[in-house]
Order: sequence, then structure tokens, then C-alpha cells
Amino acid sequence: DVQLSKRVNSIKPSPTLAVTNRAAELKAAGKNIIGLGAGEPDFDTPEHIKEAAIKAIQDGFTKYTAVDGTPGLKKAIINKFQRDNGLSYEPNQILVSSGGKQSFFNLTLALLDAGDEVIIPAPYWVSYPDMVLVADGVPVIIETTQEARFKITPEQLKAAITAKTRLVVINSPSNPSGVSYTLDELKALGEVLRQYPDVLIATDDMYEHINFSSEPFCNILNACPDLYPRTIVLNGVSKAYSMTGWRIGYAAGPAKLIGAMKKVQSQSTSNPNSIAQVAAQAALEGQQECVAEMVRAFKARHDFVVNALNEIPGVDCIHADGTFYAFPSFHQVIASREEFADDIALAEFLLLEAGVALVPGSAFGAPGNMRLSFATSMDILEDAIARIKRALEK
Ligand code: PLP
Repeated sequence: DVQLSKRVNSIKPSPTLAVTNRAAELKAAGKNIIGLGAGEPDFDTPEHIKEAAIKAIQDGFTKYTAVDGTPGLKKAIINKFQRDNGLSYEPNQILVSSGGKQSFFNLTLALLDAGDEVIIPAPYWVSYPDMVLVADGVPVIIETTQEARFKITPEQLKAAITAKTRLVVINSPSNPSGVSYTLDELKALGEVLRQYPDVLIATDDMYEHINFSSEPFCNILNACPDLYPRTIVLNGVSKAYSMTGWRIGYAAGPAKLIGAMKKVQSQSTSNPNSIAQVAAQAALEGQQECVAEMVRAFKARHDFVVNALNEIPGVDCIHADGTFYAFPSFHQVIASREEFADDIALAEFLLLEAGVALVPGSAFGAPGNMRLSFATSMDILEDAIARIKRALEK
């Protein structure tokens, strides 16, 4: 029997991918399943982006590039930060990676020693705690409530910081809750962070553009520009441009840290895919109307889904600020029946009885809620919610 490392035994496979796979298996077995588990837009990658990639292949742009990304893409990223976020970076402050997932992975490996703590507000993106564990770090979870719109308070942040804290993660708009921190809320968190100059901040802005609140997008650096020397901004093209399969994400931050992350990447995957880098550059430099079009569709679906969910007895769903997720509470539903031991049992019930795949909130550190991705057509969403309603009425 193969003896596996403590490291790999400390982590679990991505639960969102597991739900997607289980739905696919049932589908393959002939079951009629609606999969609302996956975290990716349903739209095709816009045409002008695909064309740039096709041209890159035809031009023979098919070899290794610089580990940290092509000069052209890095320039496009620097311009994007200036244009969208009012942030200035030099090329040695930018690292392009194979998806935002690798950006965060590089960060934990470059930053953490054994026992170092990383503060992660729950509900969180499933990968943060496990990527911290892979780097021998300790995830420190801050619980939130639906009443607080799943946001942490400055007091909670302060209480979570110890001498071992190395990093605080902020993800706004959030996967899975869909909520965003306001500029004032970020200012208040920054007020606490100022008292701990050794703590770094990661702002994961992956859903920046999928924002349908009345407030413009902002991150901790817009609220507290003085935190620039110890903040790392994570972003990518997966969600905004419907490019999940292309695998391009990027990070911006202090040159020393970015250099260390680049070293990690140089010994693991080297440069991200050359063709995808050309496509990502076309996405960032091209027309942005394609993004606005997708966001309009997400907003309409959000409104439908949240209202329809709230009509199901026992379900309580807040309105999101962005992303393509709803994160309804099923606490009352779970409490109402013996057979629903927890949200995992409920997810299994909905999968088998309603033929709808949702991800249980416990995967995100918020048991009792469920994540529903509305990155699918309105017809399918209507069918899915009707099925959930019917299954629960039985
Ligand atoms: N950050 C958040 C909050 C996400 O939800 C995701 C994807 O699910 C990522 C980062 C990484 O995306 P990718 O690796 O596809 O760029």
C-alpha cells in the first residue's frame, strides 16, 4: 500500500468539482439532472478573443514564453489595473499564472512557513483553506451570519489576528455569497489592518466585473491606498470573459513577493499557455461590451432566482451584489425533517428527488446554506426551481 504524505492527506478534492462530477455521472446513467454546481459562465468565449488565439497558433506563437507572462500581456494587465482600479504597477510586480487558482497557490507557497496563519472569512471559496494547508499553513476561519450579509466586522478581524497571522484574504464580490464589501466597510477593515504592519492582505477580485450593485467595484486598496506595499491583488479572465478553460489568472503586488511566487511557478509549471496568454491580452485590450452583456443576463437571472427561491417555504435568500451565485439558507428546511441530517443530506435528496445539483454550504464553511450557480439559461433555472419546490413539498 502506498504511504501518502501528511500534506496530501490534509486536503480534500474540490467539493464543487465533486458535485459537478456526480451530476455528470448521473446524467451519463440516463438521469435527467440539472447541474447548478459549476462555477463558470455558460456563455461562449467572445469571438474576438477566440480569433486572437487562432491567429497566435497560425503565427507559430506556440513556444515557451517568459515564466511570468509575455511582455504584451503584462502590459495589458498593468493598463487594466490603471484603467479599472486606479492602481499603478511595474512589470516586476505582475505575475501571470495558469488561472487565479495557481496565483493563490503560488502565494501560499511563497509566503507561508509551517504554522503560519491565514485569516479566511466564511463562507469562502473552497480552495483557500486547502491551499493554505498544502503550504503547511493554518487556515483561521472567521464565521459570519446571513443577517450580517456574510461579511466580517472590524472587531471580528481584530480578534482573529495573532502573532502568527501572515495573511488576510478578502474576496469581494464573494464566491459563494455574492456579496461585496462597500468602500466604507473596507476602510473600517483597513483601520484594523493598519495596526498590524506585518500582516499581508490578499484581495481576490476575480468577480470584479460581475457586479450588479448600485456601487462601483472597489477593493481594499481603493479604500486604503497606504496598504499598497503589503497587498496582493488577484484577478483573472476566467469569469469576466467566460474563459475558464483557458487558464489565465494574474497577481499584482510587492516586487519581492511576486518574484518569490514567480520562482515557485518557474519550478512547477513555468509559463502559462502561450496561446491563452494572447487570448487573455485580447480580452483585456478589446471591447468590454461583451462583459456588460453577460452581466446584464446574470442580473436578470439573479433577480428571478432570488425571488423564486424566497417563494419556497423555509428558504431564505439574500440579494447578491454580484457574481453568478445565489446562496440561499435552507436551515428551516433542514430542521423541518428528520431525513435531512444536514446540508449534505439535503443536497443528496435534491440531486436524487429533484434532479438538481447544488453545492452544500458546508463546502464553503457555511453549513445550512446551499450554493446555486445561475450561470445557465432562464428556462433551465425556472425548471430547476420548480423541481426543488416540488421535491420539498412531497
Ligand atoms: N477566486 C475565486 C473566488 C474563484 O471563485 C475562482 C474560481 O472558481 C478563482 C479564484 C480561480 O479561478 P481560475 O483558476 O479559473 O482563474
